[in-house]
Amino acid sequence: MNRNFNLNVIAKNIEWDLAIVGGGATGLGIAIDAANRGLKTLLVERHDFAKGTSSRSTKLIHGGVRYLQNGDISLVIEALRERGILRKNAPHLVRDLSFVIPSYDWWSSPFYGFGLKVYDMMAGKLGLGPSTLLNKQETLDHIPNVNKKGLRGGIIYHDGQFDDARMAISLALTAAKEGATLINYAEVKSFIKEGELINGFSISDNLSDKNYNIRAKVVVNATGVFSDQLIKLDQPNAKPMIRPSQGVHLVLEKKFLNGPHAIMVPQTSDGRVLFAVPWNNYVVVGTTDTPIESATYEPIALKKEINFILENAGNYMTKKPKISDVKSVFAGLRPLAASKNNSEPIKEVSRHHKVTVSTSGLISVLGGKWTTYRKIAEDTVNTVQTVGGLSEKKCKTEGIPIFGSDQNTNWQDPLHFYGTEAKKIKKLSKTGNQSLSKKLHITKNQILWALREEMAISLEDILARRTRCLFLDSSETEKIAEEVAMIMADEMKKNNTWINQELKTFKSLVKNYKI
Ligand SMILES: Cc1cc2nc3c(=O)[nH]c(=O)nc-3n(C[C@H](O)[C@H](O)[C@H](O)COP(=O)(O)OP(=O)(O)OC[C@H]3O[C@@H](n4cnc5c(N)ncnc54)[C@H](O)[C@@H]3O)c2cc1C
Repeated sequence: MNRNFNLNVIAKNIEWDLAIVGGGATGLGIAIDAANRGLKTLLVERHDFAKGTSSRSTKLIHGGVRYLQNGDISLVIEALRERGILRKNAPHLVRDLSFVIPSYDWWSSPFYGFGLKVYDMMAGKLGLGPSTLLNKQETLDHIPNVNKKGLRGGIIYHDGQFDDARMAISLALTAAKEGATLINYAEVKSFIKEGELINGFSISDNLSDKNYNIRAKVVVNATGVFSDQLIKLDQPNAKPMIRPSQGVHLVLEKKFLNGPHAIMVPQTSDGRVLFAVPWNNYVVVGTTDTPIESATYEPIALKKEINFILENAGNYMTKKPKISDVKSVFAGLRPLAASKNNSEPIKEVSRHHKVTVSTSGLISVLGGKWTTYRKIAEDTVNTVQTVGGLSEKKCKTEGIPIFGSDQNTNWQDPLHFYGTEAKKIKKLSKTGNQSLSKKLHITKNQILWALREEMAISLEDILARRTRCLFLDSSETEKIAEEVAMIMADEMKKNNTWINQELKTFKSLVKNYKI
């Protein structure tokens, strides 16, 4: 994970077996699998790892109770299986979380209770724990802030929770350990073809504006919601393959849950589900499903989405959240794979992934979930082997621990997501372990680690993805930004001009995370 070293590697103009475009969940998963199967693998990312959708999810590793309601049984079975595998391979990043569905009428407890028993059965041996019915008092004990008016009881079930951007960084480190070469801030600008067939691409190093030509036997487009842009670079008249759908989350103080359990609202006013999930001493509430015309890096939450979340969450809470209670807001775009007629409502578009191959040999991965990234990667690398005429090797990622994997994770430790690396971070400097903020946890040692070991480049990388400060509390993050920039400048040997430029860029970014 040394960017300069990796730039020197690509300057040698070697031929890669596989070159992956996109450093989100999909691309990073493919890099691990391909490198592990012995392919000479390169991954380039236009911005920072997980800058796109992969840092903006609800942070659930789940089978998807909603897909069960929709009757998408095969997706639920696949996702439940992947949930179990990921919990085993990344115990420092994925934890078991209990979700309570409060019920206000006589039929919902038996109705959802039956559905959740089916959910438990589908998980089989990889289940996280049985779902059970709760009486009114037990429901209140689990979620004390739940609306008491008319409450009859509830159901508790289990799913996985994780930190998406931290998982992405850990996947990048795992891929590097397996032998893949990864470069962030490297953007694919055009394809190189021999006749009709793609055999590489040109990239621009977005930090130096230097260009490189990459030769590769196979190229994979793992650019999520930006996939159509790349497909059009290959075939300008291609029909759109992605239907972007925006999802918004609001982050509130933890008093709005007042306990360690999540709330799941099974039926919102638009017929979807809504989650209120405890995360790093705050509560994440969401999400929405709004069709969007075109993909951008900083999608903006619409007023109606914010009101929808506040209203639907408020129906289930005694202490109702208001706009002024929102500590941060973030929006992400689902890269849903378009169907043949594209006529169904966006909430009904399948979350299954598709792997397609163009006539020029470009493999594009469309759709999918964070939860199923490993299976998506397996299917893609199988296709890579066929398209590239490479020797057929079996996927072994089911048994590969994710970087830092630690079976003795202490979830009370604010550095738990580094797993086995946490000890090394704490030892970096004796004075560097105190948090720079009373509300958020971020230390000087974490900043140094991110710069030295995790390919962080900008203030945003540190505050949005190596730590999650920006997503948790945007105003508090603004307050500590200058101190963080100064620590970075000292480590990176940058001057005041650099600090001022980083702060200016960051300040304009923070606006997107405020209401
Ligand atoms: C609101 C919301 C909630 C969700 N919640 C969950 C959840 O709880 N659980 C779950 O399992 N899934 C969830 N998902 C789905 C999940 O987040 C996505 O399926 C997943 O993150 C998609 O990853 P990706 O790698 O395909 O796309 P991305 O993360 O967007 O990665 C694509 C990358 O390609 C890069 N790129 C684009 N163009 C170029 C170029 N020319 N050169 C180089 N790089 C380029 C981009 O910069 C980007 O980083 C949610 C999604 C949304 C939107």
